[in-house]
Amino acid sequence: MSNIKPEDFFKNIISHSKEYGFIFPSSEIYDNGLSAVYDYGQLGAELKKNIRDYWWKAMVQMNENIVGIDSAIFMHPTTWKASGHVDAFNDPLIDNKDSKKRYRADVLIEEHVAKIEDKINKEVEKAAKRFENFDAAMFRSTNTRVKEYQDKIDAINERFKTALNANNLDEVKQIIVDLEIVCPISGTKNWTDVRQFNLMFNTSTGAVTDETNIIYLRPETAQGIFVNYLNVQKTGRMKLPFGIAQTGKAFRNEIVARQFIFRMREFEQMEMQFFVKPGTEMEWYEYWKQTRLKWHLSLGLGAEKYRFHDHLKLAHYANAAADIEHQFPFGFKELEGIHSRTDFDLKQHEQFSGKKLQYFDPELNQSYVPYVVETSVGLDRLFLSILSSALKEESLEGGDTRTVLSLPPALAPYKAAVFPLVKKDGLPELAESIMKDLKFDFMMAYDEKDTVGKRYRRQDAIGTPFCITVDHQSLEDKTVTIRDRDTMKQDRVAIDKLHSILTEKTSLQSLLRKL
Ligand code: ATP
Repeated sequence: MSNIKPEDFFKNIISHSKEYGFIFPSSEIYDNGLSAVYDYGQLGAELKKNIRDYWWKAMVQMNENIVGIDSAIFMHPTTWKASGHVDAFNDPLIDNKDSKKRYRADVLIEEHVAKIEDKINKEVEKAAKRFENFDAAMFRSTNTRVKEYQDKIDAINERFKTALNANNLDEVKQIIVDLEIVCPISGTKNWTDVRQFNLMFNTSTGAVTDETNIIYLRPETAQGIFVNYLNVQKTGRMKLPFGIAQTGKAFRNEIVARQFIFRMREFEQMEMQFFVKPGTEMEWYEYWKQTRLKWHLSLGLGAEKYRFHDHLKLAHYANAAADIEHQFPFGFKELEGIHSRTDFDLKQHEQFSGKKLQYFDPELNQSYVPYVVETSVGLDRLFLSILSSALKEESLEGGDTRTVLSLPPALAPYKAAVFPLVKKDGLPELAESIMKDLKFDFMMAYDEKDTVGKRYRRQDAIGTPFCITVDHQSLEDKTVTIRDRDTMKQDRVAIDKLHSILTEKTSLQSLLRKL
């Protein structure tokens, strides 16, 4: 949708999601729903399941040394003391006194920096048009205006990092004041002080509610893996290095949740903790950065849409951390985190539980607490990255347009749709028998309403990679036409070839082989 403004494009994604049954606001019949919570509809649930399956197969099925678990959402409350979440899972928040809108102070500063980055990119683009054989890296390091911008960015980042590391919230506010950041709603600089806000939701177990039976809804799936480290290592007879993966719901009382399924209060994570020998973690950290990037690139949505961003401020548990960022309609933002978490979590759980969580290394004949490299991606955020890259408005010959969702075929909700050309002459019966055969292995749609052209458009809009049309010739020679969503080309093929065509073009194997 090249001519559409980014904010309008984002609105299109939200309305398309709703119109076709991908995503609905949660409990929408009450006051338009619950803020920052969403329900996946009939097509959304399929697409989400396929994305999850692809991740699971790439991580667990394709790696003999990675196993998957499914731990509970509720965990013993001490878990969250040990992990540091009770004391430190906070976001710095700030309110604008005029609009009464609440913001994350760190996000306001990051967005300010992103605007300066945009200016640099514009300078580079302009220069690239002016010069032949343009060397972008050279231009960035020598052009005075670009260098001034870059110095500004470095100075802000350094000051911000120092303030965060010292937990100096007054200084964080001062940065916002000095940068003259205004509230996008009121346009004023009338800010409150910056305060810390804990993001965990809590509830209670049992009949009596008091301090002693408060439990938390997990804010990440990782801790369910750490507390099961020894169970899995012993029962699975796992040798280092090995990984434990899981997918599941996580809950965060996000301060600012205005970006559809990018930032939700209830969301799903797909995490993998990779346990390694201390001292080898940096090698594995690099390995997992590259391996996860490759996974994203295999989706074929455009290599230019992904980049790494190394963390300025390391979390209390990490000795290295990077994000894989994706170019969402509202800019490059974190899609996945790769963190080298040292032995922090296992050591904390040892200390708080009094149980040893170690590994006996037969080569060294000694026990130690393994180090951990984690990969952590939000399933909903991944869903949004795929949906927003796939949704296109295309101009066709003859002045027509079509909306097409160019999903990777292996992830599409339906792999193919079957249409009888007309609702008579035995065509529906043949179409149904083709459906019956294929649906053992593929999610299939069936449509006999309206013209075939309209039916194609409906399938294009929901990303169905193939449409199979049964016509009169099919009755005579057992062939059908199969139309490709992206090229719109039709081929005539034998009915008994359909299964192998769909297997080749739409199975997860086609993606897994790229890894
Ligand atoms: P952010 O800085 O965007 O708040 P984070 O650094 O707190 O994210 P992590 O704790 O590293 O995120 O979580 C790992 C992944 O989980 C993120 O990369 C993201 O894909 C996903 N995620 C985190 N918070 C949310 C949320 N509120 N809604 C949807 N996905 C989320």
